[in-house]
Amino acid sequence: MDSETVWTVLRALGEARRLPLDDPDRRWIAHAALALVRDGQQRHKQDRDHVAKEADAAVLAATAMGSPDRVIDVPISERPVGEPAGELRRARRCYVCKEHFTRVGSLYHLLCPLCAASTPRAVRPVPTCRGGGRWSPGGGRR
Ligand SMILES: [Zn+2]
Repeated sequence: MDSETVWTVLRALGEARRLPLDDPDRRWIAHAALALVRDGQQRHKQDRDHVAKEADAAVLAATAMGSPDRVIDVPISERPVGEPAGELRRARRCYVCKEHFTRVGSLYHLLCPLCAASTPRAVRPVPTCRGGGRWSPGGGRR
């Protein structure tokens, strides 16, 4: 949109303000202006939500259990207990107590700090068969 068009629209809006409140043209212009404002608000909200979602995903990925590199049923690396992974921008509900939380510990990404502190560490050794074969979830040997 060029600047001449912008000035034309602004002049038209100035003229529309002088119209009576019940004038049909004024109502159409008011509807269009309101739609423009709401569109801008929605885009700002989408941008803010996107930034917050990415920041929260980075915090959750920094936990041992929420890491995208985590391999299921393999012991997770030991980290100092209580070391926070970060602070969420949007509160989540704890998987256990259902309370909202924003501070995330280094181990559990789904638990509030209180529940994470009262949960035994999920570090388990990889089960193996006596015969030296690898354990598989289906019970067979490889
Ligand atoms: Zn909790």
